[in-house]
Amino acid sequence: MSELHTIHPTLRVIPREEHNVSRRDVSPNALRVLYRLREGGFGAYLVGGAVRDLLVGGHPKDFDVATDATPEQVKQLFRNCRLIGRRFRLAHVVFGREIIEVATFRANADDGSGDRETHEGGRVLRDNVFGSIEDDAIRRDFTANALYYAIEDFSVRDYVGGFEDVRNRLMRLIGDPETRYREDPVRMLRAVRLAAKLDFQIEAATAEPIPRLASLLGEAAPARLFEECLKMFLTGNAVASFEGLERLGLLDVLFPESAQALHSNRSGALRRMVIAGLRGTDARVANDEPVSPAFLFALLLWPAYCRALAQLQNGGMHAAEAERRAADRVTVHQLNTIALPRRFSLPMQEIWLLQSRFSLRQRKRVFRLLSHPRFRAAFDFLSLRLAASNEHADDVAFWREAQQQPGDELAAHLDSHPVAGEANGAPRRRRRRRRGGSAAAGE
Ligand code: ATP
Ligand code: MG
Repeated sequence: MSELHTIHPTLRVIPREEHNVSRRDVSPNALRVLYRLREGGFGAYLVGGAVRDLLVGGHPKDFDVATDATPEQVKQLFRNCRLIGRRFRLAHVVFGREIIEVATFRANADDGSGDRETHEGGRVLRDNVFGSIEDDAIRRDFTANALYYAIEDFSVRDYVGGFEDVRNRLMRLIGDPETRYREDPVRMLRAVRLAAKLDFQIEAATAEPIPRLASLLGEAAPARLFEECLKMFLTGNAVASFEGLERLGLLDVLFPESAQALHSNRSGALRRMVIAGLRGTDARVANDEPVSPAFLFALLLWPAYCRALAQLQNGGMHAAEAERRAADRVTVHQLNTIALPRRFSLPMQEIWLLQSRFSLRQRKRVFRLLSHPRFRAAFDFLSLRLAASNEHADDVAFWREAQQQPGDELAAHLDSHPVAGEANGAPRRRRRRRRGGSAAAGE
């Protein structure tokens, strides 16, 4: 039996005048769904992340609804409704690009992944069954995520103390933390991610087991961990998420080889670069500029790549081959934990492999690199490396200018500054030294 059965939910109703959740901040489509359910004689509540975000003055990106209507009853109320999920059915009410997810109250702990495989070792095993609103509240992960906004009287219904916790900006697991993490280890990441996003603290008893249980994350579905990574690092709170992962020992499990490289990099240069990159990512999100998973993973796995490259080169491998091998090795190893799709891992590797080409100034090579589809990302990455070491300052300056110069001017400039040793297309020796140098330095 689950730990949840020892939790005794008690209802506290927070009336409209004592909270700040306003209908004006709720998506009109979600309101439509709530009112229609209510007119149909059912209980209808906004629930989960949306209520939590509204309470802290945020703007939820999606609105989930919980109800005592069964999925079939929901379907009868809405023509624009699809039922999804095999073992546990959910209703999706579709309004153009917006989907309102309507879930019937359910009783069992759920890992929230939509993935209903059976698990062993304390993890979720049972089918989901419908339940009461109390059951539904206590199967959720954090108290802040278990608040219900009732359309009938605009009150917030709290069964687990979430309202106080939101007020005190605390992420607190419902029930016994260790049991809840064993049921679903991804909750450890959610604690870090949501604390980072909301600027909450992880409550002491909720944080305490994480370093001990971190290794359980290694058993989570790699595809789910990939999705969590995108949410942690590409939604504007990457630096805070990274620091949270580091502090609680989760980085060692998510990115084991990078974490090792960071631990052994005494100067802290690699970490400075990673943080600088994540800060840049956060700034781009804040400015509504696009961010790419390929660049993100190139950054997060760069310490691992540098380390693998140095090892291969110390073993006497030729630079170009060592680079390719290091890129492949790091990618393959990382896939054990995080399912990084090829459409991201290939450009990630390109970003790495282009790095050594920035030291080559031969005319033909310069033009070829400038027109490479991944040039811009690779150049941005090179610029980031300045945060770790000044070694590349000349290259950054050169390529910054090269991008801005008209082609004929650049060609003339390159012709009048022939690079020693490269004039007849034999840049090998210089190349090998440069590459070896940067890898061995571990940045
Ligand atoms: P955000 O959407 O900002 O990432 P969220 O809390 O809305 O955060 P979702 O993944 O959208 O996260 O989940 C919606 C709700 O489902 C949560 O608020 C929580 O109540 C419940 N939930 C999600 N994941 C889990 C889980 N692993 N265990 C228990 N309950 C979960
Ligand atoms: Mg959500």
